[in-house]
Amino acid sequence: MPEGDSVHRLAARLRQVDGAVVLRGELRGGDAAGRSLAGRRILGHDTHGKHLLTRFDDGTTLHTHLRMQGSWTLTAAGRRLPVHAARDARVRMAFDDGRTLWGLSLPVVEHVATADVPRVLAHLGPDLLHDPFDAADAADRLAARPDRAVRAALLDQRNVAGLGNLWVNELCFLRGAHPDTPVDRVDVDALLVLARRMLLHSATVPAAYQVTTGRTRRGERHWVVGRAGRPCLRCGTAVVARDDVERVGSPPRRVWWCPRCQPVVR
Ligand SMILES: [Zn+2]
Repeated sequence: MPEGDSVHRLAARLRQVDGAVVLRGELRGGDAAGRSLAGRRILGHDTHGKHLLTRFDDGTTLHTHLRMQGSWTLTAAGRRLPVHAARDARVRMAFDDGRTLWGLSLPVVEHVATADVPRVLAHLGPDLLHDPFDAADAADRLAARPDRAVRAALLDQRNVAGLGNLWVNELCFLRGAHPDTPVDRVDVDALLVLARRMLLHSATVPAAYQVTTGRTRRGERHWVVGRAGRPCLRCGTAVVARDDVERVGSPPRRVWWCPRCQPVVR
């Protein structure tokens, strides 16, 4: 599932087209669908949480978000995208060296002035993968609603940017916190230190991507995520799960925890 570490890895992969000039290409989604991108050189790729920023040399930036379904694909010179994938293209950039970059099924495609990027991202909390990470700011934002469930508070990108459902469930387990524990009953500073360390590890170490247990065997890569009904890797108690509907119209999100390692605290 795309989380901050996924987008960080994606940006690292996309940096292979930094410096390339768009020969032909356009936006096929978002408010500016149909706008040509031809003539622009890609200066670089940045991320903030799960948001990807593609900077061009004409003072503009392409802001995209993967949500659950989006992806980026680079095709080599002379190669085509399969027809079914081409239908989902929201961004196309054919470069002067023959390669083509495709943004597929992107739910957010926004072409803005680079000077406006801070405004576009203003709602987001500090990014766990940025250096330096402003942990004090994130802790203040989390403390502003002390009675909120820690799981929901960590998923809220306005508090801290980069954690999705996988990381939040795993972090709650590792800190021994039931997902419904109020924020003010949790050691938020320790939680943020752990979150940053694990996300950085996942984002930068080959083969460590979204492995939280250090074990790479199938079914043992996560402490609780995807393990409902199976024995907790630490204590043997059966892991439990439920589905939470957080917003009307949004698909439910699964919550997993070990009832013994993560007792309820009110
Ligand atoms: Zn357990």
